[in-house]
Amino acid sequence: MFENLSERLSGVFDRLTKQGALSEDDVKTALREVRVALLEADVSLPVARDFVKKVQDQATGQSVLKSITPGQQVIKIVHDALIDTLRGEGDPGALKIDNAPAPILMVGLQGSGKTTTTAKLAKRLTEREGKRVLMASLDVNRPAAMEQLAILGTQIGVDTLPIVKGEDPVAIAKRAKTQAALGGYDVYMLDTAGRLHIDAELIAQAAAVRDVANPRETLLVVDGLTGQDAVNVATEFDDKIGVTGVVLTRMDGDGRGGAALSMRAVTGKPIRFVGLGEKMDAIETFDPERIAGRILGMGDIVSLVEKAQATMEAEQAERMMKRFQKGQFNMNDLRMQLEQMQKMGGMESVMGMMPGMGKMAKQVQEAGFDDKIIARQIALIQSMTKKERANPQILQASRKKRIAKGAGLEVSQLNQLLKMHRQMADMMKKMGKGGMLKQAMKGMF
Ligand code: GDP
Repeated sequence: MFENLSERLSGVFDRLTKQGALSEDDVKTALREVRVALLEADVSLPVARDFVKKVQDQATGQSVLKSITPGQQVIKIVHDALIDTLRGEGDPGALKIDNAPAPILMVGLQGSGKTTTTAKLAKRLTEREGKRVLMASLDVNRPAAMEQLAILGTQIGVDTLPIVKGEDPVAIAKRAKTQAALGGYDVYMLDTAGRLHIDAELIAQAAAVRDVANPRETLLVVDGLTGQDAVNVATEFDDKIGVTGVVLTRMDGDGRGGAALSMRAVTGKPIRFVGLGEKMDAIETFDPERIAGRILGMGDIVSLVEKAQATMEAEQAERMMKRFQKGQFNMNDLRMQLEQMQKMGGMESVMGMMPGMGKMAKQVQEAGFDDKIIARQIALIQSMTKKERANPQILQASRKKRIAKGAGLEVSQLNQLLKMHRQMADMMKKMGKGGMLKQAMKGMF
């Protein structure tokens, strides 16, 4: 899902992360590329334009350009703007089904995954919320579709309304309502007929069913792979029938994914669920943060690898690893690590991404270790002689005083650095023995 969009955007951001200071022009250039990437991901033009404008307004603010990591800041703004555009109001997974029996109307084009989604949601309501659900197929033109729902019902252990030949959709809806009330069901789901294209008859039929059922939720199922078409379908269904939410199916495929962004921005309708496969459990509530993170490829080890690759040669990493395994970790190594961290967006960002490092990141933070300190630590190391860097254990009081003075800092700050170095050297040694270091480094480089 979103592979193309993610790849495109990470290309743009790579360039941003590598630069130190950004000019207003840098930001503009990068955002032009973001716009192209969005358009290629099938996000509609007005949506892409609005989105970029929103980001640009914030990204060209003084605080961003003057910050230590402007590239990272711009990425964060893009990330937040994506979430903002994708997010609906309230909990997308909370269906309004309080007054039993609550009707849920399922609409959509043929082949969108409507029947599958009806069954997936019925299963979810049954298992997670302990609801008694009755499903009914109204697709009188396609007996196979009615059979399909009955088969899925048996498979997931959810009741379906018995099929009566010759009945029209409105009559079926009425029967479902009566049956649901008599049978003590909490929810009844109406799986309406789909066509390959929207036509007057399809809409008239769905509207007639809506009028008798008076649904609490009308969920439109659309194929997430159809991009811009999905957005047009949603607009039309919402105009004619009125929908309370959208389910995007086939989000497991490698579609361009821009549909999610446009869908929300153009129709104003919340995306409630995403379909992630053919199996009955392959449905999830829509999570804008996760989708935004995925679009940007942020917050996971993959992005760490990408960043590390961009800032450090593999050979250098290999050499370093060999030395660490032998327990050799001097001030030059520490300095390289610190510089690497700076390039990669600071301490917290690096540690947060490394498996198992969460606890250490917290300790480091509690010790007041922020990114300004990284710069200070590097200054201290720079102030050491070659011999001192290779053998920090020779540092006595007079040497310490000289080094601290050279860096314009206090001896206590140097002592902190030395303590950290010792702890890291110990850890490297331990990890090297257990083979953990190799694994951790493999993950990184
Ligand atoms: P309907 O005509 O809208 O009722 O569509 P169906 O529910 O019959 O689905 C059509 C096909 O799409 C079936 O083969 C489903 O298994 C498949 N399908 C439905 N949802 C998803 C999904 O989220 N991911 C994938 N990969 N396939 C899906």
